[in-house]
Amino acid sequence: MPFRDIIGHERSIAAIKSALAHGRLAHAYLFHGEARIGKFLTAVRLAQALNCEAAASLENLDSCGICRSCLQIAARTHPDYVVIEPDRELAVPQIKIEHIREIEQQLIYRPLIGEKKICIIDDADRLTIGAANALLKTLEEPPPYGLFILVSSRPMALPATIRSRCQSLRFLAPAFTKVEAALILKRALPPADAQFLALCCEGRIGEALVQDLAALRAQQRECLCLVDPSTLGSITAILSAAETLAKDERGGDILNWLGRWIRDVILVLVGGDPERLFHRDHLDRLAHDAKQADLDMLLELSAEIDRIEQQAARHPNMQMALETVLLRLREASGLSRPPSRVAPVSGS
Ligand SMILES: [Zn+2]
Repeated sequence: MPFRDIIGHERSIAAIKSALAHGRLAHAYLFHGEARIGKFLTAVRLAQALNCEAAASLENLDSCGICRSCLQIAARTHPDYVVIEPDRELAVPQIKIEHIREIEQQLIYRPLIGEKKICIIDDADRLTIGAANALLKTLEEPPPYGLFILVSSRPMALPATIRSRCQSLRFLAPAFTKVEAALILKRALPPADAQFLALCCEGRIGEALVQDLAALRAQQRECLCLVDPSTLGSITAILSAAETLAKDERGGDILNWLGRWIRDVILVLVGGDPERLFHRDHLDRLAHDAKQADLDMLLELSAEIDRIEQQAARHPNMQMALETVLLRLREASGLSRPPSRVAPVSGS
């Protein structure tokens, strides 16, 4: 499972390999970029490459993925390797000072097997202030054999003092086509499903690999029923659907899908790339809706949905949010316009 299995990130990996080749590895790195695109995996692969027992016989500064050392790192049992991460089950996941003390203890001793003691800190932006200060001290005077890899999707939440002591490597979400190819290979999906999933996960491969495809398709079907004129045309049906969805706590998911439907109608209206449609299998309906729709109103509504989603935690009234969005979509879709009146006959 060497670097070769990482989707995208060629530039970051090339930078790492070049540092490895020239013996110029920094003592601390910050791998940053969107969540779940492969930053952590790359950090693990670097740790494996540094310790791999078969590395000398491998080309290209990679790891074999199957020697004892590579397996121990994968299992987090290697004596010169430690992963620190917040407890993600907690409401506010944090990396506490005890965790950093643990690293400090381990760093007192030289590596047992390899040349480096490697510490990966995942979601490093979750360090408490105390933990960050403790880590800063270690980063200021690292032992020559220490290697820190901080991983973060919110690097600006890290203290500037820590950032400045790490060599920063930015990771970009890999191209959709690469994510699709990986999904076809690793999840044995037909191309249409792979494309759908890559789109739903916005190219975040880590998420796309585990996302429940059937659940997504079910949400999509439900949303399609909701935007059907038979529902959207009836205020009673709208109110009842909003109530049920909010009660079942499915409001957020459906709102997300409503946003995707509106985005697709807009894309069709402006002649966007059909490859990027969530509802590619419903082109006829999209085209029909686009013909009736008011572009400005849809654009406003799309922005409104983004706002609601960002404030979801502070505005828990999902039922009202859904009602508002559906009623406005009804208007934007031309379903609430009064029938055109017949001009009165003059002279009567
Ligand atoms: Zn190996």
